[in-house]
Amino acid sequence: MKRRRGIRVIIFDCIILGAGPAGLSASLNLGRMRRNVAIFDNGTNRNRVTHESHGFITRDGTTPAEFRNIGLNELTKYPSVTYFNRTITEVSRDEQAGIFVIETAENEKYTAEKIVMATGIQEEFPIEAVRNFYGRSIFSCPYCDGWELRDKPLFVIANKEEQVLHMAKLLYSISRDLYIVTNGTQLSADCIRELEKHDMRYNMEPVQALHGDNGNLEAIEFRTGEKVTRSFGFVVPSFHRANPFAEKLGCNIAETGSVITDGMGRTSQSGIYIAGETQKAGPSSLLIAAAEGNIVAGSVNMDIATEKF
Ligand SMILES: Cc1cc2nc3c(=O)[nH]c(=O)nc-3n(C[C@H](O)[C@H](O)[C@H](O)COP(=O)(O)OP(=O)(O)OC[C@H]3O[C@@H](n4cnc5c(N)ncnc54)[C@H](O)[C@@H]3O)c2cc1C
Repeated sequence: MKRRRGIRVIIFDCIILGAGPAGLSASLNLGRMRRNVAIFDNGTNRNRVTHESHGFITRDGTTPAEFRNIGLNELTKYPSVTYFNRTITEVSRDEQAGIFVIETAENEKYTAEKIVMATGIQEEFPIEAVRNFYGRSIFSCPYCDGWELRDKPLFVIANKEEQVLHMAKLLYSISRDLYIVTNGTQLSADCIRELEKHDMRYNMEPVQALHGDNGNLEAIEFRTGEKVTRSFGFVVPSFHRANPFAEKLGCNIAETGSVITDGMGRTSQSGIYIAGETQKAGPSSLLIAAAEGNIVAGSVNMDIATEKF
């Protein structure tokens, strides 16, 4: 940490944008190397809608809030790490000073020599009403929530044929009672043959409404008037980076939407690093995001170590 012009401006070694598993893990590992780190979060992690997280060995079944609290609590051991509960609104590079300036919704400014972008992604659903049930009775990840729904009658909402087959195959080990909803997309004869071979029912009519209260789904109503009673199912959303910091800072982006890195979290812009789902703009898992946070911490630390040696 440096202080510029007397004692007023603190320049952190690194500011980490987002305290999901990627950001927490990056902070922990940088803090342990005695780097002065500020980590910011505003509680918009996409998994906040769910009751339990699964598949992270030693943390299977914890709530997202518990997971975060354990992470933040571990960081308190390291005086070099400071947590700020703030919304980041702008990130820019001060070319002259060679630092990054982070602005918050409260109009505060924070500065750092390096930044790690770890603000995650958000979903868009083929049917907007899915949001009312997401994380409670409609899920997107069979690895995360399939086990708890084993052998139950399930549905899948997917409006692309390849997504239909992908989810049908994935969920076949979870439940044999699958009802496929394409919301108006016509499936090919080959696809229909595959579904029928596995005793899966399907409905290609547009959906009129999802019925239920307090996140508990009861039925899917089609525009034809037909109603199918189901309490649980999966949806295939599309994903995007809600915070376009990488784009604004001029990081190279691939046609797939991924931010291009060297495989160790370094973007095409010096001093700008990325970890977790925000890099691919696609879904992964708590464990993968945490691992990427660990990797990026190594890159940031080594770069600082080399520059200052
Ligand atoms: C319903 C649901 C259930 C899931 N269940 C599981 C599961 O059981 N197991 C599993 O492994 N994975 C699960 N996942 C996926 C898992 O949540 C993600 O893979 C993981 O959280 C990605 O980590 P991340 O650090 O990249 O992003 P995130 O966890 O999304 O963290 C990004 C952080 O950035 C913060 N942020 C965003 N914008 C700003 C801003 N402008 N200013 C300040 N802070 C900001 C957010 O508050 C958030 O905390 C689930 C996801 C969903 C939606």
